[in-house]
Amino acid sequence: MLRHNVIRAALGALWLARAARWPAAAGAASGFVVTLHHVAPGDPPPFAPNALLTITPQFLDRFLGHFIGRGWRFVSVEELIAAADGAGPRCIAVTLDDGYRDNLEHAWPVFRRHGVPFTIYVCPGFSDRTAELWWEALERIIATTDSLALPGEGPVEVLSTRDSAEKQRAFQAWTAWLTTEADEARQRRAIRALADKYCVDLAALAADLVMDWDEVRSIAADPLCTIGAHTMTHAALARLPHDAALREMRDSADRIEAEIGRRPATLAFPYGYRAAAAEREAALADEAGFAASFTTRPGYVPAAGTRHGLPRISVNGLFQELRYLEVLLSPGLWTLRDRLRKSS
Ligand SMILES: [Zn+2]
Repeated sequence: MLRHNVIRAALGALWLARAARWPAAAGAASGFVVTLHHVAPGDPPPFAPNALLTITPQFLDRFLGHFIGRGWRFVSVEELIAAADGAGPRCIAVTLDDGYRDNLEHAWPVFRRHGVPFTIYVCPGFSDRTAELWWEALERIIATTDSLALPGEGPVEVLSTRDSAEKQRAFQAWTAWLTTEADEARQRRAIRALADKYCVDLAALAADLVMDWDEVRSIAADPLCTIGAHTMTHAALARLPHDAALREMRDSADRIEAEIGRRPATLAFPYGYRAAAAEREAALADEAGFAASFTTRPGYVPAAGTRHGLPRISVNGLFQELRYLEVLLSPGLWTLRDRLRKSS
């Protein structure tokens, strides 16, 4: 909560300082790629640790309308990365990770209304109902229990989860354990054991939240939509050996091509932070044949240079205000950040 208030204050201060108008290095930026996850109406319940992953269709509508009204151009990811043709700094490509069904139900109509292209990064394991949406499962388990314990696994023996504050702390402790202490295989074993113990059906959860292949095909038939790859099982690739990481990427492109008849040209790294995808993964995405790959580390897409491990701006459900996006989609802000990094 404190951290969110600090971010909110910093973004508010940058907006007052007119960060959106700060000068960028001339010709440096080829535009921005933004990341969305869920697009769904309504307010989150009191315990909603994944709320940062959801924006409302109303906010998406305001976001697109506002930037179009100010002369920005929404382009596809493919157009944006072909920077030699000069997409221009005031270009935005919209991407949505994981292939949630609400993208089809609530985001697609908004994109159509504005004629805005979008890319959905599909994880075949979710559409096949074989991979674990562990953060969604963990939220549901903690929401309905008074304590959390899994002998031999997890951050501590037993965690009390009676009220919202305890639930929040338990979610954070388990998330930290699952993504750092436990390796990828142990993470999946632990979440399967937790789901068994607390009666959450992981396949049903995926079926509830994520598009099946028929739905992916129907949205992919729209010329506004492109489908990208998001690995087979939503793995933190940097935690896998070389061959396994390469296989996760290649197999996901194979599977998507087999299902929709078109091979994805680009890939988004699951999680996208440095501990999940760094330089090795960028090189592997190139080796796997993708034209470009994206993290979730913020910044603009440079006009020249590598097309792998490119930054994206996450549109955070906890910060659904246009002025925050004006700040984050300022080439000048990231030019300044890069200068400060170089000089330190
Ligand atoms: Zn993802």
